[in-house]
Parts: sequence; C-alpha cells; structure tokens
Amino acid sequence: MNAELPAPQVLHQLFSAIEQTQDGLALFCGDDKLQYCNQTFAALFAHAVNDAVGKSFDDIMRYCFDNKIGLNIETDNIDDWLEKAHKKRRRYKFRRFETDFIDHRWFMITEQRLDNGSLLIYASDITGHINTENKLKRVSKNLYQLATLDSLTHIYNRRHFYHMANIELERCYRNQNPVALLMVDLDFFKKINDRYGHAAGDQVLIKFTQEMSENLRSYDVFGRIGGEEFAALLPKTDLHTAVHIAERIRQQIAEMKVVFNQHVIKLTVSIGISLINEQQLELEQLIAEADAYLYKAKVHGRNTIEACPETIHLQQKP
Ligand code: GH3
Ligand code: MG
Ligand code: MG
Repeated sequence: MNAELPAPQVLHQLFSAIEQTQDGLALFCGDDKLQYCNQTFAALFAHAVNDAVGKSFDDIMRYCFDNKIGLNIETDNIDDWLEKAHKKRRRYKFRRFETDFIDHRWFMITEQRLDNGSLLIYASDITGHINTENKLKRVSKNLYQLATLDSLTHIYNRRHFYHMANIELERCYRNQNPVALLMVDLDFFKKINDRYGHAAGDQVLIKFTQEMSENLRSYDVFGRIGGEEFAALLPKTDLHTAVHIAERIRQQIAEMKVVFNQHVIKLTVSIGISLINEQQLELEQLIAEADAYLYKAKVHGRNTIEACPETIHLQQKP
C-alpha cells in the first residue's frame, strides 16, 4: 500500500485514541506472538501491556486458564482447547464471535487476517446486549409457559393439549399408527375439597398429574382439560395396550396417598378410552367418544375403566 501516511500529529491523536478506547485492540504477528495491544485488551486477559506484548497466544491463554482469570475457558484440557482454537484462528480472513470473561462480561471478538499473516483483533463489550437478550429469552419462555401450561399442575392446558394432540394425531394418521385417547376424571373430587379444603384439593391434583406423567411416555400428549378432568393421547397404542395402561393408572392412583396437614387423602379415578378406527376421526370426535365411555365408567360405580368396542370392567371399587 502506498497511501500517504497522515501527519505525525494525526497519527499521535489516533494512537492516543486507541490507547484510551474501551474496546480492546491487538495485533498478533504471523508466529502468533502479541506484537501490540492497548490497555483494554491486556486487561481483558489479566495482563499489563508490557507483560502481554511478546507473549504467544498460547501463553496468554494458558495464563488465564491456570489462574482462572481473564477469559472464561471452559475445558478440562487446555491443550485440546488450544488445538481447536488454532484450527479456527487465521482460517478465515474475517471472523466474528461472542465470548465471555470470568468477570461475567461478554465481548464480540473480531479477527481479521492481514496480508502479511498478522492477525488484527478487535474486542468490543456487548455485556449490555447479552443481558438484555437473556432477559428477553427468559420473558419469552415465561410467556410461553403461561400460554401453554396449566399454572397449578404445569402440564399442558386445554388449548395447548388440543394443539399438540392434533399434531400428534395427524402424524399417526400419516404413518398409519393406532392412537388411543384416555379421558381421566377424579372421582368425588368435590368431597375432597369439602372435607379437607381447596388447598388440599390442589395438592391432590398436583400429585395425581405427577403419578400420571410417570405412567406416560415422552411423546404421549397429556393435558388438563377441565377442573379435575384430564386427557392423554397415546400414539402408537392399540386398544389392548391402552386398556393395560389405563388399568395400571387406575390401580396406582387408588393406592396413592396424599398427605396434607396430617390428613392422608385417598382418591380414585374413572377412565374412558376411545380409539381411532379405519375412519380418521377428528380429535373432537375422539374426545367426545372417550367422554361417553368416561360417563359410563361413572355410572358403573367409578374407579373403573370403560373402552370401545366392548365394555371392559376391571377391578371395581375397593
Ligand atoms: P364425579 O365423581 O362425578 O366426577 O364427582 P366430582 O365431585 O369429582 O365432580 P364435580 O364436577 O361435582 O366436582 C368437581 C370439583 O372440582 C368442583 C370444583 O370445585 C373442583 N375443582 C375444579 N378445579 C379445581 C382446582 O383447581 N382446585 C381444586 N381444589 N378444586 C377444583
Ligand atoms: Mg370428578
Ligand atoms: Mg369432572
């Protein structure tokens, strides 16, 4: 380059600005030794400028790693870490990445490979942006949970159950897998509230959903449809298996004890089961059918499961 150099006075001002800026600036030569850095850059890596200049990239990184200062190097093996770093350094003419430091600050690092093989590094503080971004992520996660989960039991709320169950149902139709739907209603739940109080009832609902969840697979869709009414869509499940699962749930809930204010509360559930047949039913139809069987289970004395095509009476009330 033959560009004319600025006047010495301008150069002096420019250098003074580089020395004072809050951004870090450094120049590593072709052999990866630090040729120049400003005070901000040296401080980032827990060095004084005079100590840092002349050191290799590896020495500076090892110093941070050994003393747990400066750059936050998350590794058990610094040699591996350096090897990986070297693979990336100078590989691109221009590279930009975010990195964090032990003091919880975040910097955007810009590396530029110059024609003579040197590496120009520019580090700017982005802690404020990262914190705002993290706050937004937390808010958005909270909002998502508020919109999709039931606030008491933390399982899907009614609307999200319908949304997720519809997706799962369509997938099963596409893959020609059987699907079963369980409608589960707590028996005489009002009596539990009346006898032990609403807070006790809440605790029962929480314990019940935990017990249910343990009986379901990760891809089953489980949600709270009403106050004490729940639905579970079980993909890839035939009638025989669905009955087996429902019966296991019925038995486990009947054996479960909820302790609240020194009271031991027992409960039972009634379960209605519907299944898709050759006709591709809508979710609403599947739910309505399971609801009808649930109603039968209530009429037949509760603590019972009922399913299509034939009525299945398993173990009755204790
Ligand atoms: P059945 O065996 O016929 O289902 O009788 P049940 O008493 O369970 O049914 P019912 O519909 O008569 O009463 C349901 C009760 O559930 C009434 C309502 O106050 C209670 N409930 C609904 N949501 C909640 C809740 O979030 N917490 C508590 N503690 N109770 C609730
Ligand atoms: Mg009930
Ligand atoms: Mg009910």
